[in-house]
Amino acid sequence: SRVKEAEFVKSSARARDCPKDDRPEFAVLGRSNVGKSSLINALIRRKEAALTSKKPGKTQTINHFLVNKSWYLVDLPGYGFAAASQSAQTDWSSFTKGYFLNRDTLVGVLLLVDASIPPQKIDLDCANWLGRNNIGLTFVFTKCDKSKKGKGGRPEENIKEFQETISSLYPEPPPWIMTSSVTGLGRDGLLLHMSQLRNY
Ligand code: GDP
Repeated sequence: SRVKEAEFVKSSARARDCPKDDRPEFAVLGRSNVGKSSLINALIRRKEAALTSKKPGKTQTINHFLVNKSWYLVDLPGYGFAAASQSAQTDWSSFTKGYFLNRDTLVGVLLLVDASIPPQKIDLDCANWLGRNNIGLTFVFTKCDKSKKGKGGRPEENIKEFQETISSLYPEPPPWIMTSSVTGLGRDGLLLHMSQLRNY
């Protein structure tokens, strides 16, 4: 499950512009500021690999990275911009839902969830939507190195609360992993998990 090489392949403005290829892929998804770019960069050891635009209103793209010439890691636009207008949010969902529902080579979605804050409704809604559409999901908790005193400041507690809420939505809870792009926690475990899903 080691990353020997990774190359940026393409930015696609629409789901149907994605590379026509039968190699398996994993999509990385999460709320804006969840730590998605940092995690992708840590996984494929590239500086500034993740190109997704962060500013609401700017063109959002689906970015394909080919790893070891055998599978893709796909950087999807972040959701839930605090400053985004309703129409920007709607654009996000129709655009990204189009990708999820039509991408036959999609093996799984890594849904990034910030463990340094309490569970957010938008993340639970997203998990729920993916589950209802039978899209294989792994929860990747980010920023697990970051702990604050007081309520909602401890990653372990936030994760536990998130899992409890999810267990009422899912008959079988999705796999999950704790990560930190600062300490490298979970990087190897996540790569191993993806290699197991690919060979499944
Ligand atoms: P994105 O908007 O989801 O792509 O998020 P970024 O990767 O740009 O990260 C958003 C902010 O969170 C930045 O200030 C990062 O330095 C910080 N961040 C990202 N990952 C971690 C992490 O694992 N631990 C800590 N403590 N901070 C992180």
